[in-house]
Amino acid sequence: MKLENKVVLMAGAGSSAPGWSIGKASCVTLARHGAIIVALDASLDAAQDAAQEVLKLGGKALAVQADVTDPTAVEQAIALANHEFGGIDVYVANAGIGKIGGVTETQTSDLDRIYQVNVQSLLTAAKLVIPGMVQRGGGSIVTISSVAGIRYLGYPHLAYGVTKAALIQFTRMIAHEYAADGIRANTVVPGLIDTPRIQKNVSSAFSKDNNADEVRNKRNQQVPMQRMGTPWEVANAIAFLASDEASYITGTELIVDGGLTGK
Ligand code: NAD
Repeated sequence: MKLENKVVLMAGAGSSAPGWSIGKASCVTLARHGAIIVALDASLDAAQDAAQEVLKLGGKALAVQADVTDPTAVEQAIALANHEFGGIDVYVANAGIGKIGGVTETQTSDLDRIYQVNVQSLLTAAKLVIPGMVQRGGGSIVTISSVAGIRYLGYPHLAYGVTKAALIQFTRMIAHEYAADGIRANTVVPGLIDTPRIQKNVSSAFSKDNNADEVRNKRNQQVPMQRMGTPWEVANAIAFLASDEASYITGTELIVDGGLTGK
């Protein structure tokens, strides 16, 4: 894929627990295609871990600690990326949080915080990265939603689903506003992906099952392909939308879910 020397700012580049998250696998996948990675994460350890994986490949990477809901921290991270690498070609909005629960269990404060991380942070980042992309003649913004933003998955995930739905429309709006400037904006919509975070979340959703294998089987049975996806399979979709191979694709969603939503 054509990503040679493209500077990628990956927000939420780390993993919330040991193992391969979507962000970390994406840093490595994009770097394998020649991209330069700015690994941004709220956790410095997580950002450094992702950057380290890229450096191990012989790639170029920089780790930056920033909470995506902190405009000053994001601005400083972008200034650093511009200074080190001369600009940003690709922004990946991968930082995301959620909380299992429906109307009764969801507090207004939960919805506020999840909205700030999953949706509002895109406004902050877009205002900061788009002017540079316009100057460079284009760019690609890839946002990471979830099938929870388009379907009910069998357990209540209210604030997460609402914000991930909003993220899809937000991305389409950016795509339309900046299409003439050569900036593409698309969303990857992952299904059940086997990351350390989903292992924890779905286990608690099926908490009546104590047996880990039973929990895993139940998850797999939800999916027509009878298995969860890997972070690498999502990373490939992110790399494609980020790359020049997707040059005529904007304002759309790429669903990576083993057939879950088409069931
Ligand atoms: P993860 O929790 O392992 O990784 C997310 C990373 O984002 C962590 O390193 C975390 O520190 C960072 N982060 C969280 N809040 C942040 C903030 N405010 N500022 C900066 N960094 C922050 O998650 P994952 O399972 O790899 O998921 C990655 C993305 O994919 C998320 O947006 C998630 O909603 C989405 N997604 C995941 C799945 C799945 O099954 N794992 C399915 C659909 C969508």
